[in-house]
Amino acid sequence: MRRTSTRLADGREIIYFDDDTNAPPRTAVDTRDLPETAHTAEIRRDPLTGEWVAIAAHRQTRTYKPPTDLCPLCPSAPGRPTEIPESDYSVVVFENRFPSFAQAQDMSTADEVVPGLVPRRHGLGRCEVVCFTPDHNTSFAELSPERVRTVIDAWADRTVALGELPGVEQVFCFENRGEEIGVTLHHPHGQIYGYPFVTPRTKRMLAVAAEHHDRTGRHLACDVLAAERDSGERMIAGTSSWSAYVPAAARWPVEVHLVPHRRVPDLPALTDAERDDLAGLYLDVLRRLDALHDRPLPYVAAWHQAPVRVGRELSWLRLELFSIRRAADKLKYLAGSESGMAVWISDVTPEQVAERLRAARTPQDHPER
Ligand SMILES: [Zn+2]
Repeated sequence: MRRTSTRLADGREIIYFDDDTNAPPRTAVDTRDLPETAHTAEIRRDPLTGEWVAIAAHRQTRTYKPPTDLCPLCPSAPGRPTEIPESDYSVVVFENRFPSFAQAQDMSTADEVVPGLVPRRHGLGRCEVVCFTPDHNTSFAELSPERVRTVIDAWADRTVALGELPGVEQVFCFENRGEEIGVTLHHPHGQIYGYPFVTPRTKRMLAVAAEHHDRTGRHLACDVLAAERDSGERMIAGTSSWSAYVPAAARWPVEVHLVPHRRVPDLPALTDAERDDLAGLYLDVLRRLDALHDRPLPYVAAWHQAPVRVGRELSWLRLELFSIRRAADKLKYLAGSESGMAVWISDVTPEQVAERLRAARTPQDHPER
């Protein structure tokens, strides 16, 4: 893999990750006349829950479902400059033009209290876009294992880089896929957030892991993984270094966790062999998801990594893949119980979902047909 960092017309960083170290040098210049981006990212803490909310009102003007010939994530062509100046790329990462979190002129992390007992401060951090392929009309599941490996290396690179930025406490790599999930650009891409705080879900999971460790001296994720592998009831697929299973208390109609067998806090800590294994298993699982119904499954792929500064020794890397599609023609909406009380009601058993995913086969599995 070869990495080249350069700048867009408005100063944002863009980084090319090429599968082929002999790819042409990435020297194309952004010819657009872009206005300076005004970063007004702000976070406010809900005084009733203690949780931070990002207020990013400028995002209202962001690009919304453009026609294919105006896709900002395709490579540039003569007379049609996009966010990516080059005419080709493997994987490319650039700073989001409409970030929810951003570095600021005044890097103060002090709270200012506004009426209503609401502390607020700069939303210090960074938001990046990751394009997985220059091909507009494909999906992550259709990438080659080699390309997925480059994506994994890019995620690892950005996890280190964002973790070193002032104010960043946690790095989150994710992909939203499908209009049903709210995706506004069809080009295969994901995002990376550097949050200025440890997220509520990670805080909660670290507290539970700490309690388990105090009581047993063991890692909770290790015990759960061992139990899932022993029982096999909810296992989907696996390699010598990774397992994929439906969690016993799955919240979503389709939910799969990909977990490494060795405790690593984050993606940068994975070995080359573990990254190669992950690439193959990830593709296997995504293809099973797409084979569930007669159409691509909308999903969220969410990487749970250790925070930058706290809880690293208790953290165990995990990918959570989940979908809101509960039947070929039905979506799960987060209604009263889920939205109001954070209590999930599921109308399928995780064991049934695991059974269907184990049986799911894609045309790629049967080239002889
Ligand atoms: Zn495109």
